[in-house]
Amino acid sequence: METMTMKYPVTKNYVGGKFVASKSTKEMEVVSPLDGSVLSTVPMSTKEDLDAAVTVAKKAFETWSKVPIKERVQVFFRYKTLLEKHMAELSQLVHEENGKTIDEARAEVEKSIELTEFACSLPQLIGGEILEVSRGVECRTDFYPVGVVACIVPFNFPSMVPNWTIPNAIALGNTMILKPSEAVPLSSIRIAELLKEAGLPDGVLNIVNGDREIVEAICDHPGIEAVSFVGSTKVAKIVYARASVSVNYKRALALGGAKNHLMVLPDAHPTMTASNVTASMSGCAGQRCMAASAMVAVGDVDHIIKMICDEAKKIIPGQNLGAVISKAAKERIERYITEAEKQGAKILVDGRNTVVKGKENGFYVGPTVIDFVTPDMSVAREEIFGPVVSIIRAKDVDEAIAIENANPYGNAASVFTQSGGWARYIIERASAGMIGVNIGVPVPREPFSFGGWNDSKFGVGDITGKSSIGFWTKLKKTTTKWNAEAKTNWMS
Ligand code: NAD
Repeated sequence: METMTMKYPVTKNYVGGKFVASKSTKEMEVVSPLDGSVLSTVPMSTKEDLDAAVTVAKKAFETWSKVPIKERVQVFFRYKTLLEKHMAELSQLVHEENGKTIDEARAEVEKSIELTEFACSLPQLIGGEILEVSRGVECRTDFYPVGVVACIVPFNFPSMVPNWTIPNAIALGNTMILKPSEAVPLSSIRIAELLKEAGLPDGVLNIVNGDREIVEAICDHPGIEAVSFVGSTKVAKIVYARASVSVNYKRALALGGAKNHLMVLPDAHPTMTASNVTASMSGCAGQRCMAASAMVAVGDVDHIIKMICDEAKKIIPGQNLGAVISKAAKERIERYITEAEKQGAKILVDGRNTVVKGKENGFYVGPTVIDFVTPDMSVAREEIFGPVVSIIRAKDVDEAIAIENANPYGNAASVFTQSGGWARYIIERASAGMIGVNIGVPVPREPFSFGGWNDSKFGVGDITGKSSIGFWTKLKKTTTKWNAEAKTNWMS
């Protein structure tokens, strides 16, 4: 494969603190969605590559798990400072490999910093409990790390999603195998380098690149105790099922896709609603699991729909709108729009056939607003993962809730209204894990946790925040009696 024209070196795996070549001869190109240029190549690693990484991670666990947590988090205090120091370079890398705008990339690295700050607070959160349960008998609890854990991540947040898991899981004493998305493996390299510079011992974080084959090998590996996954629902189901029952019945947490509904009521603040809906559907080119994908227009909100179209027209691909991940993604999104049009929906703003001057080989779709979508259309039911909002008309709030409830996903739902009563009514009835009131992208900030419901998440607990502590640790319960003369048993 041609390597002379690549901007970055060939991507390698990271095992025991060193970048090592995979045993595989299969590789893929890492293509920048901005202009179609080849940035690097990424190996499709083999089971032997994974075995070597797990062996190293198991060895590192013996010492890392015994380091007191207050000492372990010192690495993350230093890592946070390094993320801040390298903000410009890290944002540029995310921009190039993922295609989102530089501002969106910076926001992603800022979120990585916030996630790291949370991990630094873990010593304050995992103190166990102790109680004298009978005379002279006490019970106490302690959190123990699980062992070697694996994290499989998607393409849409090359920095943030790895940092959903790395700081918490590692600060809690686990060692890790990270499997980056083969589309965006470059940010993970810098994460590993910065963690090493921050003092993370070799072998605690390891990276094995690849696609389906290596994910299946992770699920099946007897040396891995827990698997977290973030990606599409189709693969989340496969990974959750396979990791849970394969070989050693691992614990698994698998986050899937989304179809988020924003319910707009007639009393909604018009300009705020229009700018929020538009930003939610088009931010990161719609490639966010929290993006507004369907807007349920309750009653007459035509004045707001008009403002949304005006806002959408101000979004210029290649300027304040990034690229979508691949040519295939662009084609898929455009197919959805065309299908909706054929089925009778009205395309109010059309982002098909977008070409950015000077970046003709990039993958761009302009912001798209589709009105008069009915719940049976594929644009209403399926995740499009592009800058497209489908407007579904509902006569009242109960019909809007029924439409939201009928979709199989459950990541986020939002309501736009100035009525506290209607907001409460919808909060209680929406079938989603993260709810926004007058907020288009209701991502809970730390210390609140991130996680959806229904087909957007398989497993118990959330992937970040306090809720993730249970996933990354095992609880030990100890009952103690030291005074032999006390003629009590543990019950009396
Ligand atoms: P994807 O499911 O295609 O890939 C995710 C990971 O799984 C990648 O590392 C990939 O290599 C691996 N993979 C792909 N196909 C596989 C297969 N058949 N078997 C085993 N492993 C496989 O997802 P993506 O396209 O990278 O990311 C976009 C998806 O991720 C969207 O559906 C989006 O909603 C979802 N997502 C969800 C959340 C969330 O929090 N719920 C967050 C970010 C992204």
